[in-house]
Amino acid sequence: MKFGTKALHAGIVADPSTGAIMTPIFQTSTYVQEYPGTHKGYAYARGKNPTRTQLENNIAALENGTNALCFSSGMGAIDAVIKLLKPGDEVITGDDIYGGSYRMFSKIYEPFGIKFHYINLYDAENIKNYINENTKLIWAETPTNPTLKIVDISAVSAIAKANHILLAIDNTFASPYLQNPLDMGADIVMHSATKYLGGHSDVVMGALVTKNQELHDRLAFILNSCGANPGPMDCFLVIRGIKTLHLRVKAHCENGRAVAHYLRNHPKIGKVYWPGFEDAAGHETAKKQMRDFGGMVSFTLKGDDFEAAMRFATNVEVFTLAESLGGVESLVNHPASMTHASIPKPEREKAGVVDGLLRLSVGVEDIEDLIADIEQALEKV
Ligand SMILES: *Cc1c(COP(=O)(O)O)cnc(C)c1O
Repeated sequence: MKFGTKALHAGIVADPSTGAIMTPIFQTSTYVQEYPGTHKGYAYARGKNPTRTQLENNIAALENGTNALCFSSGMGAIDAVIKLLKPGDEVITGDDIYGGSYRMFSKIYEPFGIKFHYINLYDAENIKNYINENTKLIWAETPTNPTLKIVDISAVSAIAKANHILLAIDNTFASPYLQNPLDMGADIVMHSATKYLGGHSDVVMGALVTKNQELHDRLAFILNSCGANPGPMDCFLVIRGIKTLHLRVKAHCENGRAVAHYLRNHPKIGKVYWPGFEDAAGHETAKKQMRDFGGMVSFTLKGDDFEAAMRFATNVEVFTLAESLGGVESLVNHPASMTHASIPKPEREKAGVVDGLLRLSVGVEDIEDLIADIEQALEKV
Protein backbone atom coordinates (compact mmCIF):
# COMPACT_ATOMS: atom_id res chain seq x y z
CA MET A 1 0.00 0.00 0.00
CA LYS A 2 1.27 3.47 -0.80
CA PHE A 3 1.55 6.25 1.75
CA GLY A 4 -1.70 8.15 1.14
CA THR A 5 -3.77 4.97 1.22
CA LYS A 6 -2.06 3.89 4.43
CA ALA A 7 -2.68 7.32 5.98
CA LEU A 8 -6.41 6.83 5.51
CA HIS A 9 -6.82 3.12 6.08
CA ALA A 10 -3.93 1.35 7.81
CA GLY A 11 -5.02 0.09 11.22
CA ILE A 12 -8.41 1.79 10.96
CA VAL A 13 -11.31 -0.64 11.37
CA ALA A 14 -15.02 0.22 11.04
CA ASP A 15 -16.78 -0.30 14.37
CA PRO A 16 -18.12 -3.89 14.32
CA SER A 17 -21.07 -3.15 16.62
CA THR A 18 -22.52 -0.25 14.57
CA GLY A 19 -20.64 -0.05 11.28
CA ALA A 20 -19.48 3.51 12.12
CA ILE A 21 -16.86 4.26 9.48
CA MET A 22 -14.96 6.71 11.68
CA THR A 23 -13.17 5.38 14.73
CA PRO A 24 -15.42 5.94 17.76
CA ILE A 25 -14.15 7.97 20.71
CA PHE A 26 -14.14 5.33 23.44
CA GLN A 27 -14.61 7.72 26.33
CA THR A 28 -14.28 5.12 29.05
CA SER A 29 -11.86 4.52 31.89
CA THR A 30 -12.56 0.83 32.42
CA TYR A 31 -14.05 -2.22 30.67
CA VAL A 32 -16.46 -4.93 31.76
CA GLN A 33 -14.85 -8.24 32.72
CA GLU A 34 -16.80 -11.49 32.35
CA TYR A 35 -14.76 -13.17 35.00
CA PRO A 36 -11.76 -11.68 36.92
CA GLY A 37 -9.04 -11.27 34.29
CA THR A 38 -11.29 -12.33 31.39
CA HIS A 39 -11.99 -9.41 29.04
CA LYS A 40 -11.77 -8.40 25.39
CA GLY A 41 -8.14 -7.26 25.60
CA TYR A 42 -8.94 -4.02 27.40
CA ALA A 43 -8.85 -3.87 31.21
CA TYR A 44 -8.17 -0.25 32.18
CA ALA A 45 -7.77 2.74 29.87
CA ARG A 46 -4.34 3.91 31.07
CA GLY A 47 -2.96 0.71 29.59
CA LYS A 48 -5.10 0.53 26.44
CA ASN A 49 -7.99 2.31 24.77
CA PRO A 50 -9.54 1.18 21.45
CA THR A 51 -9.41 4.69 19.90
CA ARG A 52 -5.75 4.88 20.81
CA THR A 53 -5.11 1.35 19.49
CA GLN A 54 -6.36 2.32 16.01
CA LEU A 55 -4.20 5.45 16.00
CA GLU A 56 -1.16 3.47 17.17
CA ASN A 57 -1.64 0.86 14.45
CA ASN A 58 -2.00 3.64 11.89
CA ILE A 59 1.17 5.49 12.96
CA ALA A 60 3.14 2.21 13.11
CA ALA A 61 2.20 1.57 9.46
CA LEU A 62 3.21 5.08 8.35
CA GLU A 63 6.68 4.62 9.87
CA ASN A 64 7.07 1.05 8.57
CA GLY A 65 7.25 -0.15 12.17
CA THR A 66 5.48 -3.03 13.85
CA ASN A 67 4.22 -1.20 16.95
CA ALA A 68 3.50 2.33 18.08
CA LEU A 69 2.57 3.90 21.40
CA CYS A 70 0.83 7.22 21.85
CA PHE A 71 1.54 9.58 24.74
CA SER A 72 -0.08 12.65 26.24
CA SER A 73 2.60 14.84 24.60
CA GLY A 74 5.82 14.64 22.66
CA MET A 75 7.69 15.26 25.91
CA GLY A 76 5.82 12.34 27.50
CA ALA A 77 7.09 10.13 24.67
CA ILE A 78 10.70 11.33 25.07
CA ASP A 79 10.44 10.85 28.83
CA ALA A 80 9.48 7.20 28.30
CA VAL A 81 12.58 6.63 26.13
CA ILE A 82 14.90 8.11 28.78
CA LYS A 83 13.25 5.87 31.39
CA LEU A 84 14.75 2.89 29.53
CA LEU A 85 18.03 4.06 31.11
CA LYS A 86 19.43 3.93 34.64
CA PRO A 87 21.84 6.10 36.67
CA GLY A 88 25.36 5.95 35.25
CA ASP A 89 24.16 5.50 31.68
CA GLU A 90 25.24 8.03 29.06
CA VAL A 91 23.41 9.56 26.12
CA ILE A 92 24.86 11.24 23.05
CA THR A 93 22.62 13.90 21.59
CA GLY A 94 22.75 16.98 19.37
CA ASP A 95 23.90 20.43 20.42
CA ASP A 96 20.81 22.04 18.87
CA ILE A 97 17.98 19.71 19.89
CA TYR A 98 14.47 20.95 20.68
CA GLY A 99 14.62 23.29 23.70
CA GLY A 100 12.16 21.18 25.69
CA SER A 101 14.27 18.05 25.16
CA TYR A 102 17.38 19.92 26.33
CA ARG A 103 15.47 21.14 29.39
CA MET A 104 14.27 17.65 30.29
CA PHE A 105 17.69 16.08 29.81
CA SER A 106 19.65 18.76 31.69
CA LYS A 107 17.20 19.78 34.43
CA ILE A 108 15.32 16.54 35.15
CA TYR A 109 17.55 13.61 34.17
CA GLU A 110 21.10 14.86 34.80
CA PRO A 111 20.28 15.15 38.55
CA PHE A 112 19.15 11.49 38.40
CA GLY A 113 22.66 10.52 37.33
CA ILE A 114 22.23 10.14 33.58
CA LYS A 115 24.96 11.87 31.61
CA PHE A 116 24.22 13.69 28.34
CA HIS A 117 26.79 14.74 25.74
CA TYR A 118 25.44 17.59 23.59
CA ILE A 119 27.57 17.36 20.47
CA ASN A 120 27.77 18.04 16.76
CA LEU A 121 26.02 15.04 15.18
CA TYR A 122 26.34 16.27 11.59
CA ASP A 123 29.74 14.74 11.37
CA ALA A 124 28.83 11.16 12.29
CA GLU A 125 32.51 10.32 12.92
CA ASN A 126 32.53 12.86 15.76
CA ILE A 127 30.14 10.60 17.69
CA LYS A 128 32.86 7.97 18.13
CA ASN A 129 34.82 10.38 20.37
CA TYR A 130 32.05 10.27 22.98
CA ILE A 131 31.25 6.55 23.07
CA ASN A 132 32.26 4.49 26.07
CA GLU A 133 30.95 1.37 27.83
CA ASN A 134 28.20 3.43 29.53
CA THR A 135 26.77 4.85 26.30
CA LYS A 136 23.27 3.44 25.92
CA LEU A 137 21.39 5.84 23.65
CA ILE A 138 21.90 8.26 20.78
CA TRP A 139 19.08 10.81 20.61
CA ALA A 140 19.01 12.74 17.33
CA GLU A 141 16.66 15.12 15.58
CA THR A 142 16.70 15.73 11.83
CA PRO A 143 16.06 18.23 10.35
CA THR A 144 16.95 20.14 13.49
CA ASN A 145 15.13 22.98 15.10
CA PRO A 146 15.48 25.82 14.15
CA THR A 147 18.49 25.80 11.81
CA LEU A 148 17.33 22.74 9.85
CA LYS A 149 20.62 20.89 9.90
CA ILE A 150 20.63 17.29 8.70
CA VAL A 151 21.88 14.25 10.60
CA ASP A 152 22.83 11.29 8.40
CA ILE A 153 20.58 8.64 9.92
CA SER A 154 22.19 5.64 8.16
CA ALA A 155 25.71 6.75 9.13
CA VAL A 156 24.75 7.31 12.78
CA SER A 157 22.84 4.05 12.84
CA ALA A 158 25.89 2.10 11.62
CA ILE A 159 27.93 3.53 14.51
CA ALA A 160 25.13 2.84 17.01
CA LYS A 161 24.76 -0.77 15.84
CA ALA A 162 28.50 -1.45 15.92
CA ASN A 163 28.56 -0.29 19.55
CA HIS A 164 25.22 -1.84 20.69
CA ILE A 165 23.70 1.56 21.38
CA LEU A 166 20.01 2.36 20.84
CA LEU A 167 19.30 5.03 18.24
CA ALA A 168 16.18 7.17 18.63
CA ILE A 169 15.20 9.76 16.03
CA ASP A 170 12.88 12.68 16.73
CA ASN A 171 11.13 12.71 13.33
CA THR A 172 8.74 15.56 14.18
CA PHE A 173 10.04 18.08 11.62
CA ALA A 174 10.04 15.67 8.69
CA SER A 175 6.85 13.70 9.44
CA PRO A 176 6.59 10.09 8.22
CA TYR A 177 5.57 11.37 4.79
CA LEU A 178 9.08 12.71 4.20
CA GLN A 179 11.33 10.38 6.18
CA ASN A 180 11.18 6.91 7.78
CA PRO A 181 14.13 6.46 10.18
CA LEU A 182 13.34 2.81 11.03
CA ASP A 183 14.09 1.95 7.38
CA MET A 184 17.55 3.50 7.88
CA GLY A 185 18.37 1.51 10.99
CA ALA A 186 16.93 3.60 13.85
CA ASP A 187 15.48 1.62 16.77
CA ILE A 188 12.88 4.15 17.90
CA VAL A 189 11.10 6.92 16.02
CA MET A 190 9.54 9.67 18.07
CA HIS A 191 6.92 12.23 16.99
CA SER A 192 5.40 15.23 18.58
CA ALA A 193 2.02 14.44 17.01
CA THR A 194 1.09 17.97 18.08
CA LYS A 195 2.80 19.11 14.87
CA TYR A 196 2.38 17.59 11.38
CA LEU A 197 0.57 14.37 12.41
CA GLY A 198 -2.27 16.26 14.10
CA GLY A 199 -1.74 19.09 11.67
CA HIS A 200 -4.47 21.47 12.88
CA SER A 201 -3.02 23.02 16.05
CA ASP A 202 -5.81 21.53 18.14
CA VAL A 203 -4.13 18.74 20.09
CA VAL A 204 -0.97 17.93 22.07
CA MET A 205 0.28 14.35 21.69
CA GLY A 206 3.40 12.23 21.28
CA ALA A 207 4.20 8.89 19.68
CA LEU A 208 6.95 6.27 19.63
CA VAL A 209 7.34 3.66 16.90
CA THR A 210 9.56 0.58 16.96
CA LYS A 211 9.95 -2.63 14.99
CA ASN A 212 11.25 -4.69 17.86
CA GLN A 213 8.71 -6.42 20.10
CA GLU A 214 10.96 -6.53 23.17
CA LEU A 215 11.70 -2.80 22.98
CA HIS A 216 8.03 -2.05 22.37
CA ASP A 217 7.02 -4.11 25.41
CA ARG A 218 9.46 -2.21 27.64
CA LEU A 219 8.11 1.12 26.40
CA ALA A 220 4.49 -0.03 26.80
CA PHE A 221 5.33 -1.06 30.38
CA ILE A 222 6.74 2.43 31.04
CA LEU A 223 3.67 4.09 29.48
CA ASN A 224 1.29 2.05 31.60
CA SER A 225 3.40 2.40 34.76
CA CYS A 226 4.07 6.14 34.50
CA GLY A 227 0.77 7.21 32.99
CA ALA A 228 1.53 9.69 30.18
CA ASN A 229 -1.33 8.26 28.11
CA PRO A 230 -3.40 10.45 25.79
CA GLY A 231 -7.17 10.77 26.05
CA PRO A 232 -9.44 9.16 23.44
CA MET A 233 -10.74 12.49 22.08
CA ASP A 234 -7.17 13.56 21.32
CA CYS A 235 -6.54 10.21 19.62
CA PHE A 236 -9.61 10.78 17.46
CA LEU A 237 -8.34 14.21 16.44
CA VAL A 238 -4.95 12.84 15.39
CA ILE A 239 -6.59 9.97 13.46
CA ARG A 240 -8.59 12.60 11.60
CA GLY A 241 -5.53 14.79 11.07
CA ILE A 242 -3.47 11.94 9.60
CA LYS A 243 -6.09 11.27 6.91
CA THR A 244 -4.77 14.35 5.07
CA LEU A 245 -1.11 14.14 6.14
CA HIS A 246 0.15 13.37 2.62
CA LEU A 247 -1.90 16.21 1.08
CA ARG A 248 -0.88 18.73 3.72
CA VAL A 249 2.83 17.94 3.80
CA LYS A 250 3.00 18.09 -0.01
CA ALA A 251 1.48 21.59 0.16
CA HIS A 252 3.78 22.60 3.07
CA CYS A 253 6.80 21.53 0.99
CA GLU A 254 5.68 23.47 -2.10
CA ASN A 255 5.04 26.64 -0.12
CA GLY A 256 8.22 26.18 1.94
CA ARG A 257 10.26 25.95 -1.26
CA ALA A 258 8.73 29.18 -2.64
CA VAL A 259 9.21 31.09 0.63
CA ALA A 260 12.84 29.92 0.98
CA HIS A 261 13.69 31.12 -2.53
CA TYR A 262 11.89 34.44 -2.06
CA LEU A 263 13.75 35.15 1.19
CA ARG A 264 17.10 34.19 -0.27
CA ASN A 265 16.75 36.86 -2.95
CA HIS A 266 15.64 39.64 -0.60
CA PRO A 267 18.19 42.38 0.20
CA LYS A 268 17.17 42.67 3.90
CA ILE A 269 17.77 38.97 4.60
CA GLY A 270 21.02 37.52 5.94
CA LYS A 271 21.05 33.71 6.04
CA VAL A 272 18.21 31.44 4.96
CA TYR A 273 18.09 27.93 6.39
CA TRP A 274 16.25 25.40 4.23
CA PRO A 275 17.75 21.97 3.45
CA GLY A 276 16.55 22.12 -0.16
CA PHE A 277 19.20 24.65 -1.24
CA GLU A 278 21.93 22.87 -3.14
CA ASP A 279 24.58 24.69 -1.11
CA ALA A 280 22.88 23.99 2.26
CA ALA A 281 24.99 21.97 4.68
CA GLY A 282 23.54 18.47 4.61
CA HIS A 283 21.66 18.94 1.32
CA GLU A 284 23.06 15.72 -0.17
CA THR A 285 22.09 13.75 2.94
CA ALA A 286 18.64 15.35 2.96
CA LYS A 287 18.17 14.35 -0.68
CA LYS A 288 19.18 10.79 0.16
CA GLN A 289 17.02 10.30 3.25
CA MET A 290 14.03 12.62 2.73
CA ARG A 291 11.38 12.66 -0.02
CA ASP A 292 11.20 16.48 -0.01
CA PHE A 293 12.52 19.28 2.18
CA GLY A 294 9.56 20.21 4.36
CA GLY A 295 7.72 23.37 5.28
CA MET A 296 10.11 24.79 7.86
CA VAL A 297 12.26 27.76 6.84
CA SER A 298 14.43 29.84 9.18
CA PHE A 299 16.22 33.07 8.37
CA THR A 300 18.14 35.94 9.88
CA LEU A 301 17.65 39.59 9.14
CA LYS A 302 20.81 41.42 8.05
CA GLY A 303 22.78 42.47 11.11
CA ASP A 304 21.14 39.83 13.35
CA ASP A 305 19.26 42.66 14.97
CA PHE A 306 16.77 41.82 17.76
CA GLU A 307 14.63 44.90 17.06
CA ALA A 308 14.39 44.10 13.35
CA ALA A 309 13.30 40.55 14.15
CA MET A 310 10.62 41.91 16.51
CA ARG A 311 9.37 44.30 13.82
CA PHE A 312 9.03 41.48 11.32
CA ALA A 313 7.33 39.17 13.84
CA THR A 314 4.81 41.81 14.91
CA ASN A 315 4.01 43.14 11.42
CA VAL A 316 3.07 39.94 9.62
CA GLU A 317 -0.69 39.56 9.09
CA VAL A 318 -1.24 36.17 7.47
CA PHE A 319 1.56 34.55 9.47
CA THR A 320 0.77 34.41 13.20
CA LEU A 321 3.31 34.90 15.96
CA ALA A 322 3.18 31.70 18.01
CA GLU A 323 5.20 28.73 19.22
CA SER A 324 4.64 25.34 17.60
CA LEU A 325 4.66 24.29 13.96
CA GLY A 326 3.22 21.82 11.50
CA GLY A 327 -0.36 23.10 11.53
CA VAL A 328 -2.16 24.15 8.36
CA GLU A 329 -1.78 27.85 9.24
CA SER A 330 1.51 29.70 8.81
CA LEU A 331 3.36 30.66 12.00
CA VAL A 332 6.39 32.78 12.80
CA ASN A 333 8.47 32.14 15.90
CA HIS A 334 11.42 33.98 17.45
CA PRO A 335 13.44 31.05 18.82
CA ALA A 336 15.80 33.06 21.07
CA SER A 337 12.93 34.46 23.13
CA MET A 338 10.30 31.75 22.60
CA THR A 339 10.98 28.07 21.86
CA HIS A 340 14.70 28.16 22.73
CA ALA A 341 14.64 30.62 25.64
CA SER A 342 15.42 27.78 28.09
CA ILE A 343 18.83 27.20 26.43
CA PRO A 344 21.61 29.44 27.89
CA LYS A 345 22.53 32.23 25.44
CA PRO A 346 26.13 31.16 24.69
CA GLU A 347 25.03 27.60 23.84
CA ARG A 348 22.07 28.91 21.90
CA GLU A 349 24.25 31.19 19.79
CA LYS A 350 26.76 28.43 19.13
CA ALA A 351 23.88 26.54 17.52
CA GLY A 352 22.98 29.55 15.34
CA VAL A 353 20.03 30.72 17.44
CA VAL A 354 21.00 34.40 17.34
CA ASP A 355 18.71 37.29 18.27
CA GLY A 356 17.97 38.07 14.61
CA LEU A 357 16.81 34.53 13.76
CA LEU A 358 13.17 33.86 12.89
CA ARG A 359 11.60 30.49 12.16
CA LEU A 360 8.66 30.07 9.82
CA SER A 361 6.30 27.13 9.83
CA VAL A 362 4.99 27.67 6.32
CA GLY A 363 1.33 26.66 6.14
CA VAL A 364 -0.95 25.68 3.28
CA GLU A 365 -2.48 29.08 2.49
CA ASP A 366 -2.18 30.41 -1.08
CA ILE A 367 1.47 31.14 -1.73
CA GLU A 368 0.78 34.58 -3.28
CA ASP A 369 -0.72 35.74 0.04
CA LEU A 370 2.18 34.34 2.07
CA ILE A 371 4.81 36.04 -0.10
CA ALA A 372 2.88 39.35 -0.11
CA ASP A 373 2.68 39.17 3.69
CA ILE A 374 6.41 38.58 4.07
CA GLU A 375 7.08 41.39 1.62
CA GLN A 376 4.98 43.96 3.48
CA ALA A 377 6.45 42.94 6.87
CA LEU A 378 10.00 43.27 5.49
CA GLU A 379 9.16 46.77 4.23
CA LYS A 380 8.54 47.74 7.86
CA VAL A 381 11.88 46.35 9.05
C1 LIG B 1 7.18 20.14 19.80
C2 LIG B 1 8.35 19.26 19.74
C3 LIG B 1 8.61 18.35 20.77
C4 LIG B 1 7.75 18.25 22.01
O1 LIG B 1 6.46 17.82 21.73
P1 LIG B 1 5.15 18.27 22.56
O2 LIG B 1 4.06 17.59 21.84
O3 LIG B 1 5.09 19.76 22.48
O4 LIG B 1 5.34 17.81 23.97
C5 LIG B 1 9.72 17.52 20.64
N1 LIG B 1 10.53 17.60 19.57
C6 LIG B 1 10.32 18.48 18.58
C7 LIG B 1 11.26 18.52 17.42
C8 LIG B 1 9.23 19.33 18.63
O5 LIG B 1 9.04 20.23 17.65
